Amino acid sequence: MPDVKSKKDILQIEAGEDSLWADFGQVERLTLSLTQTYTHTLGRYSRFFIELENQRFMATRCGRCQRVYAPPRPLCPDCLCPTYWVELAGTGTVQTFSVQHFSPGSNADVAALKTPYVFAYVLLDGASTLFPHLLIADPAQVTVGMRVRVHYVQQPVEHPIHLIHFIPVE
Ligand SMILES: [Zn+2]
Repeated sequence: MPDVKSKKDILQIEAGEDSLWADFGQVERLTLSLTQTYTHTLGRYSRFFIELENQRFMATRCGRCQRVYAPPRPLCPDCLCPTYWVELAGTGTVQTFSVQHFSPGSNADVAALKTPYVFAYVLLDGASTLFPHLLIADPAQVTVGMRVRVHYVQQPVEHPIHLIHFIPVE
């Protein structure tokens, strides 16, 4: 006899004998998977990701107001001037953070995260803006003001943003 391959549960909903829905109390719930392949361009931000493979952390600077954008912005939002690339050392300070108890599992890089993990907003040395990313550290040890640095991973990743995460500076 053929079987349904997807994960399924059969639930019984409360329905009194006199209810109109007494014959419809049994509910089958299916868990299905959806896989979608698509092409996505990193556009004018591409050099940031390309240089991560060379273990270089790039930002952009506005030639007019001198603000340094990390993550990079091709255009200064204040001056509306095109920016230019600058390299940062990759060290910085935690400005705020949250402890995550759920991983969305949207790709293999994220699905591999063990919860709880720390998501931090870091002001990189030389930058004017906050860079949000994963901080691999004991959540109980993380504080605002903690010194961190960019760490480059060695294993292959699905998306180049996962070539890096932050770690505490020893
Ligand atoms: Zn500017």
